[in-house]
Amino acid sequence: MQQNWSRHLRYTLVGLAGTTLAGLYLGYPVYGLTAGLGFYLLWTLNQTRRLAQWLADPSANDEAPQSLGIWGDLFDKLHKLNQNYLLTRDQLRARIDRIQESTNAMRDAVIMTDARGAMEWWNGSAEHLLGFRRNTDQGQYIYNLIRTPAFKSYFDAKDYREPLELNSPARPHIQLQIQISLFGEEDRLIVAKDVTRLHQLEQMRRDFVSNVSHEMRTPLTVISGYLETLADNADDLPAKWQRAINTMATQSFRMETLVTDLILLSRIETGEQTVNDAPTNVDRLVRQICQDARTLSGEKHHEIIFEAIDPHWLKGDENQLRSAFSNLIFNAVKYTPAGGRISVAWFANTEGGHLSVKDTGTGIDQVHIPRLTERFYRADPSRHKDTGGTGLGLAIVKHVLINHDGSLEIHSRLGEGSEFVCHFPPERLVEGPQSNTIGVNEA
Ligand code: ADP
Repeated sequence: MQQNWSRHLRYTLVGLAGTTLAGLYLGYPVYGLTAGLGFYLLWTLNQTRRLAQWLADPSANDEAPQSLGIWGDLFDKLHKLNQNYLLTRDQLRARIDRIQESTNAMRDAVIMTDARGAMEWWNGSAEHLLGFRRNTDQGQYIYNLIRTPAFKSYFDAKDYREPLELNSPARPHIQLQIQISLFGEEDRLIVAKDVTRLHQLEQMRRDFVSNVSHEMRTPLTVISGYLETLADNADDLPAKWQRAINTMATQSFRMETLVTDLILLSRIETGEQTVNDAPTNVDRLVRQICQDARTLSGEKHHEIIFEAIDPHWLKGDENQLRSAFSNLIFNAVKYTPAGGRISVAWFANTEGGHLSVKDTGTGIDQVHIPRLTERFYRADPSRHKDTGGTGLGLAIVKHVLINHDGSLEIHSRLGEGSEFVCHFPPERLVEGPQSNTIGVNEA
């Protein structure tokens, strides 16, 4: 380009010198120079006009305007740049069309919003599952279209580790699972999955377990009752019948406990929305459970200590909380050898209320800890026979805590004892009427 420009300058100067010399020959050198400059100016103006015309719509004419010297080079260069730009634009457009086609083929709803939640783009499934309309909803805030308060809080919280479940605003019978990802400058990619079928299956499973448990309860009560009567009057029977009756009585008692736990679990699971939020005196509740635990410990003479370091009460369902706390405390008794120590503490801080149950028992291998709250999961399947456990205790604890917006933390090492801590959020704490009940109660 630099070379062309020098050549252009040279030709122009030679041209001007030529017109000046012609003027000098005729006796008017200044007129000659003026005529040369005027011609050059007109020519340049004409090229500028052609350039402006072409730039107004470069794609209308596939050919670049033809010209001499630097203007010819300029037209060629601009033409090449324009060709490259058109090619890249077409490639990008094809790629975007393909992405849109593939996301439109998805069964999940996909929505893109900016950081404030203004809707920028969504696929066909979003129209079907969430009822968005292409013509009117562009630029609308998504939380004005999905009006559930839980969605607005989820959107604003920016903590998207767990998905959110809600009913579709357009078709309430559809259950959606919403997952949000952040990208760009806090823009959001929202994916909504239809999980109605999964929910139906889960409901069918719960109903089945609950119905079977209820149906089994009456016959089992009858069998246990008769077996108990038989066991009480078995003195006259031969020893082998006495043994058989006692074994049957023990096993039917185990089945009764299992059925009771199954019914309790399905009640806690299905009653997730109907937790009674009256304030519960945790101090008194846990003190009673510790007393029962001492009875359960019996000849094993565990040292059971309860420390209530906080006077706060807890908003929650007392029956459900009793089930959860007693499962943890009775487990500590079951899995701690005779003479061991069990420390229970209720305390609060800025993060909420916490109930800790610590024992010096058998402990649990790390590999089992993530799965302990699954139904029927046992860290040591051979051990439950001695303890008479059903394998449902920690599942009950987990669901009670879910119903109370809480969580369970487990620390344990094989042979070194365990600690189970129930965490409750600060919103669930209330001042108790007698806020000076801080005390220590030892066995
Ligand atoms: P289970 O009725 O068998 O006690 P849980 O659901 O209450 O069922 O507990 C699940 C498993 O977790 C138990 O089988 C046991 O292996 C382990 N576990 C629970 N609590 C303790 C504890 N305090 N110490 C050692 N192991 C425990």
